Amino acid sequence: MLNKDISSNKSDTADPVSLVRSKQSKTESPTSSQLSRKRTRGSSPGRVFPSSRLHERQQPKPSTRARSPPLSDTAMIRPRNVEKLVYGRYEIDAWYYSPYPSEFGTVIKRLYVCDTCLRYMKDDGQLSDHKVHCRKRKPPGTVVYATDTVKIYEIDGRDHKMYCQNLCLMAKLFLDHKTLYYDVEGFKFYVVTEHEQKTKDIMVGYFSKEKISYDNYNLACIMTLPSHQRKGYGRLLIEWSYEMSRREGIIGSPEKPLSTLGLLGYHSYWSSIILEVLKSLPKSSQITIASLCQETRLKEEDVISTLSRLGLLRYWKQEHIQAAPSPPSNSHSNPAHTLFFDYPVPSPVVIHIEPNMIEHTIETNHIRFTRHLDPNSILL
Ligand SMILES: [Zn+2]
Repeated sequence: MLNKDISSNKSDTADPVSLVRSKQSKTESPTSSQLSRKRTRGSSPGRVFPSSRLHERQQPKPSTRARSPPLSDTAMIRPRNVEKLVYGRYEIDAWYYSPYPSEFGTVIKRLYVCDTCLRYMKDDGQLSDHKVHCRKRKPPGTVVYATDTVKIYEIDGRDHKMYCQNLCLMAKLFLDHKTLYYDVEGFKFYVVTEHEQKTKDIMVGYFSKEKISYDNYNLACIMTLPSHQRKGYGRLLIEWSYEMSRREGIIGSPEKPLSTLGLLGYHSYWSSIILEVLKSLPKSSQITIASLCQETRLKEEDVISTLSRLGLLRYWKQEHIQAAPSPPSNSHSNPAHTLFFDYPVPSPVVIHIEPNMIEHTIETNHIRFTRHLDPNSILL
């Protein structure tokens, strides 16, 4: 899974796409038959999240290896039809099938995508010709977040349908279960960009969100390009989705089910948020799960699943909570990071904070509390 910097032999100021020769001018966009396709399952443009493992921010390394797709998800998936995506300076191995037009062939050795408007083409000649005429230097929509190097654009799927459709098609190359590509009007897209060559904002990741969600879903699909993973963009987008929920005055949550990697990303985020609250409590104090939800502004099911994953809930079952035995008197005989519930259960469920429980959990789970979203850079 090698991301090859195809402009590495040129000067930093050269436009990468000028390195390819002009042959044809035809560009491709979704056909009318494609536009009429309906989603086959799910209710959103995707549900999975192969992007973020939420590592600390690192300097960009264009030629570093991309992460591999989650192996556990590959068994049920159509064979990929694109071998490599050429996107700006990057040549990225595709992970999964994406429904690009059949006239492109059943196996596409290289798919060329304009790094500013996301139109896709068959060969470098088409891309070269396209770049002569393409005046786009940034995604459409409105900048809602901006630092010196990173921006988030808010894009309405109804106003910028083709861009969002092309974004979904490209994202599918790295998403296993995503099933919607064309019905984008009911969604908003939040695109994170890197500033490149002082003139362009390049899409490196995004998430989609239903404009109206009766279930208070704050995120439908999230993706970071493999070439730009491990830079904290997944975490930034998750934090942004919760910031949006906070401004809407709701307790938001991502659509379920999450993929294996998506779950990892969210549990990392949820763990840090929850433990931040728990470690601020006095020793030997207690808090209800309802209060924890209120403090963290996380949905109850997400709080419980995170506590369970951290090994802090041992007695959770689907519809009820079984009361745990009394806490051990000897802290050396039992891990000191288990929560115990008061009788009666389930409401209100009370968590006792045992000595050293929080510190132990933070250490063993490598919890980091660094926030990637800078409140001073929000432009709403
Ligand atoms: Zn373009």
